[in-house]
Amino acid sequence: MADIVSELVALLGAEAVLDSQAVRGRARHVWDPTPMEARALVRPRTTEEVSAVLKLCHRHGQPVVTHGGVTGLAGGDRSTADDVILSLERMIRIEEIDPVGRTATVQAGCILQTLQEAVEQQGLLFPLDLGARGSCTVGGNVATNAGGINVIRYGMTRALVLGLEAVLADGTVVSSMNRMLKNNTGYDLKQLFIGTEGTLGVVTRVVLALKELPTSINTALVALDEVDKVARLLKHMDQSLGGQLSSFEVMWGEFYRAVTVPGSLAAPLERSHPFYVILESQGADPGRDAERFESALGEALEAGLIVDAAMPKSRAERDHFWAIREDLGPINSDRPLVAYDVSLPIRDMPAYVDEVETRLKARWPDGKVYVFGHIGDGNLHIVVCPRTAVADLHAQADPAIYEPLVPYGGAVSAEHGIGLDKKRWMPLSRGEDELELMRLLKRSLDPRNILNPGKVVDAHRNLASR
Ligand code: ZN
Repeated sequence: MADIVSELVALLGAEAVLDSQAVRGRARHVWDPTPMEARALVRPRTTEEVSAVLKLCHRHGQPVVTHGGVTGLAGGDRSTADDVILSLERMIRIEEIDPVGRTATVQAGCILQTLQEAVEQQGLLFPLDLGARGSCTVGGNVATNAGGINVIRYGMTRALVLGLEAVLADGTVVSSMNRMLKNNTGYDLKQLFIGTEGTLGVVTRVVLALKELPTSINTALVALDEVDKVARLLKHMDQSLGGQLSSFEVMWGEFYRAVTVPGSLAAPLERSHPFYVILESQGADPGRDAERFESALGEALEAGLIVDAAMPKSRAERDHFWAIREDLGPINSDRPLVAYDVSLPIRDMPAYVDEVETRLKARWPDGKVYVFGHIGDGNLHIVVCPRTAVADLHAQADPAIYEPLVPYGGAVSAEHGIGLDKKRWMPLSRGEDELELMRLLKRSLDPRNILNPGKVVDAHRNLASR
């Protein structure tokens, strides 16, 4: 068998292929400096080139791990020395922005922030937004059905994808570049590739739905004294703002204190409160929107739902508020750590967090548990810092996070996907019939198991063991 690396070079040219040595010059992940491993990393420029690469790899039974911005948090992008990495880093073109139909057509490697800025210049909004905006790619957002900080108003990535083009394991190109909001012409095939983490096909181009650019943005950071008031505040603000609420991000007190520790970000509100929320509304009437936002906050203060509030007076101050939520600086350096992403009904969150904290404190009395997240979406992020050396931290901390979800029908993944890290916990959130249907899809679309093998579901191993 000819060396697959030289075949890839023959196919796309030497500058499109990095060999195993060159691949080791890259970091495995934005948060992990360990060298990346692969037989080769290939950088196609077009869907046709992706198709040619997959055709070749399919013929050889060569495993392929597709890379977007490599910012994922569940190990879906992890590769071994035997894999070929298919990086979309040169497929970054914004092909078209249609201001009338309010769509953007992009190659999948386009960086999210690049798209956001290009769209904004046309007076429009691409509302998907998350902390990794500067490095994550649209294709990665689609493959993981990314969520982020505006989901409460605009939905997850799935809600913003109108059409896409994907390449199947054998190189077949499936082009479903629909541009309309309504299209019930048979099966909605794009859903096969949204949130399936590159296991059923490689997304190469996407048609995205755009929204009108809001002309007013109102932001506040508020403090609360009781957990029950978080959900009540959400309801009050959403009711008062008539659909304008776009973010509602909660931070437990420990989280806020950690990220505003003296020497890091300044604290706009006193650091002693049990809970904090950053909330934001977007509208089209700057004068009246600000009035409405402030009076809704005033009512919340009068009703005792919040105990303190701060509003930014400039764009820089608003960025500062958001940095408190997004820039995990001091927490990030509290190593070792492990980060989680779960969802459950809002009303069950207090009891769930109590249970998680009790379990973790029993295990690591000096450890820290930081809780924050997108409450309106039922989504919590939890960072566990045991403050002591721990062998295989995941294995030791996972049960404390995942097992308490079961009584509430919670999900072991809210927005980060399954990848490798959560695979063994899938049965807590998904029934055997659901898992078997996932395996059936995988076996049908990727019979030789070359697309991101071993991620999400073990379709082929299950077959072999029968
Ligand atoms: Zn998040």
